[in-house]
Amino acid sequence: MDEERMISGENLDELEHTEEMSLRPQTLEQYIGQDKIKKELSIYIEAAQNRQEALDHVLLYGPPGLGKTTMAMVIANEMGTSIRTTSGPAIEKAGDIVALLNDLEPGGILFIDEIHRLPRFVEEMLYSAMEDYFIDIIIGEGDTARPVHFPLPPFTLIGATTRAGILSAPLRDRFGIVSHMEYYSIESLSDIVKRSGRVLNASIESQGAIEIARRSRGTPRVANRLLKRVRDYAEVRADGIIEGAIATKALNMLNVDKEGLDSVDQRMLEVMIKQYNGGPVGLNTLSANIGEDMGTIEDMIEPYLIQEGFIQRTPRGRVATEKAFDHINSQF
Ligand code: ADP
Repeated sequence: MDEERMISGENLDELEHTEEMSLRPQTLEQYIGQDKIKKELSIYIEAAQNRQEALDHVLLYGPPGLGKTTMAMVIANEMGTSIRTTSGPAIEKAGDIVALLNDLEPGGILFIDEIHRLPRFVEEMLYSAMEDYFIDIIIGEGDTARPVHFPLPPFTLIGATTRAGILSAPLRDRFGIVSHMEYYSIESLSDIVKRSGRVLNASIESQGAIEIARRSRGTPRVANRLLKRVRDYAEVRADGIIEGAIATKALNMLNVDKEGLDSVDQRMLEVMIKQYNGGPVGLNTLSANIGEDMGTIEDMIEPYLIQEGFIQRTPRGRVATEKAFDHINSQF
């Protein structure tokens, strides 16, 4: 259970010193983008606070790096409560989930990342926990086995998953608030890059922020990573100021192309176009050709390529679009 962390009022101060924590916005107001989700959540949070109740359970879904963990922490902060974080694969025994839930303060939050990877029996234990705040488990084996009833404090479960579709229906239905996280616009990402620049003490000009934003695959985690690398480049090869031309040079060196596609995206499109004449290509075949597992292709690589119109998903497999042909051909 190493992935579990307790983030309460006292030790938040300690964690704030780490770079990752400081890059995370703390309030809904500081959280950039995802306007629809923020607007809805602010209403539900205020209503729950007025009634002095726990917030309803929240499911956040979307590709990695879009800010699901950050949003869970923001919700805890806005609700004025503590949050414990864990992940689906870290919960192995019935006792793990009982301990986690039992330790929450009333109205506290349990955040489970990768909730689709919870063992089935833990998922089933969550049904009564989420609906009526209790868990019944069997303790002991054979003749000595006996049922034990654990009442729980009222709590909010926040689940994060890359694909809501693979959660079982009974679990999905128990979330009162279901939010789909979207890829970020260039404008929002550029604001995130500027904010992170301030946190990291990097001097960054507007055009530099836009260049980084444009090449971040719509994803704040990628934007923050590229910002750090571009900052290194600007410090070593120039006067440290991240302006447009320096950002472009650094990003070219990092093999991020002008559409923001990284080397894995480029390889996938190249395989589809050069070896399969644009497809349709099955997921299996793609996976074998580019050396990435099917889950990674489905969760991380293809959603962005689909959203940007480079590939389409058809019943017979993935097909490269004209935009993909133009893009790949223009590079040679
Ligand atoms: P996820 O849980 O969806 O994988 P995270 O919450 O870990 O994503 O976010 C990844 C990184 O992006 C974090 O460093 C976080 O600070 C940053 N980030 C995410 N969303 C935002 C946002 N809306 N505004 C500013 N920074 C963000």
